[in-house]
Order: sequence, then C-alpha cells, then structure tokens
Amino acid sequence: MKTRVALLNEMGLSTPYKDSQPLSIETVELDEPKENEVMIKIRAAGLCHSDLSVINGSRPRPMPMALGHEAAGEVVEIGPGVEDFKEGDHVVCVFIPSCGHCIPCREGRPALCENGAASNSRGEMLEGGRRFKGNDETINHHLGVSGFADYAVVSTNSIVKVDDEIPFENVAIFGCAVITGIGAVINTAEIRSGSTVAVVGLGGIGLSAILGAKLAGASQIIALDINQDKFELAEKLGATATFDSSADDVEAQVKALIDGGVDFAFETAGATPAMDVAYKITKRGGSTVTTGLPDPDHKFSIPHVTLAAEERTVKGSYVGSCVPSRDIPKFVDLYKQGRLDVDALLSGTLSLEDINEGFDRLDRGEVARLIVTMD
Ligand SMILES: [Zn+2]
Ligand SMILES: [Zn+2]
Repeated sequence: MKTRVALLNEMGLSTPYKDSQPLSIETVELDEPKENEVMIKIRAAGLCHSDLSVINGSRPRPMPMALGHEAAGEVVEIGPGVEDFKEGDHVVCVFIPSCGHCIPCREGRPALCENGAASNSRGEMLEGGRRFKGNDETINHHLGVSGFADYAVVSTNSIVKVDDEIPFENVAIFGCAVITGIGAVINTAEIRSGSTVAVVGLGGIGLSAILGAKLAGASQIIALDINQDKFELAEKLGATATFDSSADDVEAQVKALIDGGVDFAFETAGATPAMDVAYKITKRGGSTVTTGLPDPDHKFSIPHVTLAAEERTVKGSYVGSCVPSRDIPKFVDLYKQGRLDVDALLSGTLSLEDINEGFDRLDRGEVARLIVTMD
C-alpha cells in the first residue's frame, strides 16, 4: 500500500529548515507486515532532539531515511504468527526493538539489545530488511519506527500496548522522552526519597527527569539550562531552583544553595559542556548520570583521582534503563492518577507538512515537545 513519509535525503543542511527543507513529504510503497510484525496507522509522533541529531548530521545514519521514533498509533494489520496484538490496539513505539535472546535481553536489559542496536544502525527492521520502497532506492527505517508517516510496519518488539482512553498526541511522548527521563531517575539512579537532584538540559528528557525526581520524592530539584526561557516550565513541573548552566560560577552558585553539591546530577542535553557542569555540581560520594547522545567524537574528561578519592559514580542511562513493556504502562497509570504531569511538556501540534518549521522551533529551543498528528 501507499503511505506518506517524512524522508530525510541528506544530513547537515543549513538552518532555517523552513528554507532548506531537509525533510520532504513523499508517498512511498509500504510492504505488508512479515512474521512478528504489525502495520500501524500512526496518529501522533513527537519531534525529538534525536531526530534533529540525524537531520544536522551529528548522529549519522544511512540515507535516505524515513524519520521519526517517538510515535503512537493503532494496529491496523497483523503479520503471520502475531498473537500479542490485534487490530484496533493502541500502541506506543519504542525506539530500540529487543530480540529477547541476546545477552542483555536475557539479563533483563532490553534497552541494550545487541540485535536491536545493530538493526537500528543499519536502518533495517529487527527481523531484517526494509518495508518501505521508494523510486529505485532503498529507504531506511529510523530506529525501527519511522513515525513521521501515515502508516508504518513495526516489529511487535518495538511496540507496547497502552490504554485506549488516552489521546494519541498525549501518549506518544511516553515512548521516548518520558521513559528516558523518568527511567534515568527511577531505574538508573534509583534515587531515594529526600535526595537532592540537579537536571542539566531542559528539553523533553530533562523535563521528564524533573517529573521523575518529584515523583520519587526528591527534596530539592535544581534545573539548569543555557536558555533561561525554559525555567518557567521547569518550575511548574517541580524544579525548586533554576540556574544558567553557562555561567562561569555555576558550580559555586549551586553549592551556595546545596552545601557540597547534589546527590544526583543528570545530564540530559547530549552536550559535553552540560556533562561537565553535571559532574562539577555532584557532591562527594554522589552520582552523575548521563542520558545524552552527543556527537560520537566528543570526549568527556574528569580528574581521575576524584572517582576514588570522592567515591564518585558516573553512570550512563539508555532509554532510562527501562523495560518498556513494564514501565510504559506503569508511567501511563501514574499519569492517569494525576501524578505525572506529562501534558505540561506538550507544546502544541502540527501537521506533517509543517515538520521542517517544527524542527526549526525545536532547534531554537522554543519548545519542549511538538507533536505531529495524522488523521
Ligand atoms: Zn527521542
Ligand atoms: Zn536482544
């Protein structure tokens, strides 16, 4: 069948994207779902910094690629042998499919699935190959999802069934920003009630980390960013203090408020200067957790001695160390109970045709989460 996709043909085009139009809306052929796959009608998809990193070339991927990885939709067709999903199910996509049998999967760490990471790097489905066909060219899948589209074929290992009462545009964000940010706090760091927390980088993931810290009972939540326009929303979500992370004396400012620094600092910007700030404001004996995905060539350095002499911990968190089939329904329940104000992260909706302008707004730091909606 035919579907529209937002196709990225070339990375690194100049901003504003309104003029350079890196994403073109094209109609392509979509194959039927194969074994262990379903076709979904995408209804909502979030614009995330990880999409922007492919558009600007800082996270290179095979081209051309049908972009989008934070999506929600409805199952419209099931492939052979699929038993866990049926037509009409509402699902949220997860951007790393898990095979269930590699070493990390067997250890209960699906976010680190080796086969999922390999198929994602190749721009293929977990089950192998590609389901989109363009004019004489291969179209790569983005993280097994390709959510900026009317329809997509996805592995059943890339989706989680969710409550169908929740509007698609409200639930799509659970597949990336919410599980990554809240999961980093709850699963990776396992913060304790009363902990002091700092979050450096107030995009969708950082703001979700603030929600997670509040949920887990942090006594103080310090929000930092280079863009002070983000502080108002951070405070609304639970930040108890805000600081300009680019200030020369930011470490002294934070330590003047919390003697010695915070128990847990989260780097959620995907930028090495943010990691540097996060490490400096972590107290002796504390943990610095990074969720960011900077350019693969960027290096982060620390005084080696501090790790032992100050018993410091530096930890990476990918997809919030989540088990998506366990954690997405759990976070959705907390949202329904009014304990996770995920809606406050939503900055508005736009149509697929306006996606390049949407990425301009994300690039300029004007929005937390814009959602493309498809009828
Ligand atoms: Zn994302
Ligand atoms: Zn695996």
